[in-house]
Amino acid sequence: MALIVQKFGGSSVADSAAIKRVAKRIADTKRAGNDVVVIVSAMGDTTDDLIDLAKEVTPNPPAREMDILLTAGERISMALLAMAVNDQGIEAHAYTGQQAGLLTDDRYGKASILGIVPERILRTIQSGAVAIVAGFQGVNSHNDATTLGRGGSDTTAVAFAAALHADTCEIYTDVDGVFSADPRIVPKARQMSVMTYEETLELAAHGAKVLHLRAVEFARKFNVPIHVRSSFSDKEGTWIVSDTLSEQKAMEAPVISGVAHDRSQAKISVVGVPDIPGAAAKIFAVVGKADGNIDMIVQNTSITRPGISNISFTVPQTQLKAVVAALEGAKAQLGFDTIKVTESIGILSIVGAGMRSHSGVSAKLFSTLGGLGLNVDMISTSEIRISVVVDPQRLDEAARAVHTAFGLDSESEAVVYGGTGR
Ligand code: ADP
Ligand code: ASP
Ligand code: MG
Repeated sequence: MALIVQKFGGSSVADSAAIKRVAKRIADTKRAGNDVVVIVSAMGDTTDDLIDLAKEVTPNPPAREMDILLTAGERISMALLAMAVNDQGIEAHAYTGQQAGLLTDDRYGKASILGIVPERILRTIQSGAVAIVAGFQGVNSHNDATTLGRGGSDTTAVAFAAALHADTCEIYTDVDGVFSADPRIVPKARQMSVMTYEETLELAAHGAKVLHLRAVEFARKFNVPIHVRSSFSDKEGTWIVSDTLSEQKAMEAPVISGVAHDRSQAKISVVGVPDIPGAAAKIFAVVGKADGNIDMIVQNTSITRPGISNISFTVPQTQLKAVVAALEGAKAQLGFDTIKVTESIGILSIVGAGMRSHSGVSAKLFSTLGGLGLNVDMISTSEIRISVVVDPQRLDEAARAVHTAFGLDSESEAVVYGGTGR
């Protein structure tokens, strides 16, 4: 008998018919002799709708109350899904994050998991029932509801799979698996059969929202095999496994395995910084204190003004206000002239373990972008990734051209079963 964790995303439970369809899949898995723990997201675009509603009430909702509001979305879906599974003749019980024992720190809206006390879930499955757990939420030491950040139900699923030593963590979504690019943007994207944790981490960290970044980090740390697949079909999806397991595959795979795009970042340029040792350290200490997550950094020394440099970096748009306010607040101490903000930028990334052993990858990327007449504003690299900042208006076009240039186009068009892509 296997223990399977199944996670269903918002588009898989968008309405009552979808909830019934998912309930049948859960019941069938249970009837096949498995223990089943289910993690469920809020229905359809519920989380977005709740955020919009809060913004109609106030431009600055308190973080604690925002989390109480957002956790309501998953409470609705978990209760309805448990009812639907019971209706299939299989006993099922719904639990909030708190009831399921998911403990987090205090950072409302972006809480980290501190641990899981899965006794109640264990008792439920030992009694022969299915446990249905609300994704994306936990409880902090003040007994308050917290959320794990957008897309966080994936992380709930992998964390439970690790805590329960599950055999597999199935992530059900609205596409057939992990593709070489977002199929909504690149219709010729090809489905991958196996991916390494490493490559998936790079894709998830750079905009491929099919998996929450921390879910992949957890899976890698605790060696949880993930199977990303569609809740709308029975097709085999994409397996995400340890780097060594898929090493052989990496040897034969194309140099680039994926193209990711990200429209959620902004650029801050700190202009007129004294070009002395320690200046950058001070700036990034201020950014760090404001909880800014920096991805790319570029520094250039002014030719016309010796001793002065400009430092530009990217942060998520959601952190822009706080980071700019912190920098302005420390202006006297940092000694810069002005701050320039570009609210919307496009980041295109190519990822592939094959980059380690192949040359000419950057040349091909830059010549493709050059052929489109696209200017590259910033660049960052890792051992298996190159990211560039380009005009956000032309990001989709750039993703398609780069996908083609690296020989990733598939013969057939990828299927997107549902969801609004919001
Ligand atoms: P869920 O509601 O199931 O959590 P998400 O909307 O969070 O689903 O994630 C699935 C979506 O991720 C897909 O519909 C697709 O548009 C997008 N996506 C982005 N990059 C990729 C990729 N490389 N492979 C597959 N899907 C991707
Ligand atoms: N409902 C949350 C969101 O929309 C969590 C999730 O779906 O993973 O971000
Ligand atoms: Mg998701």
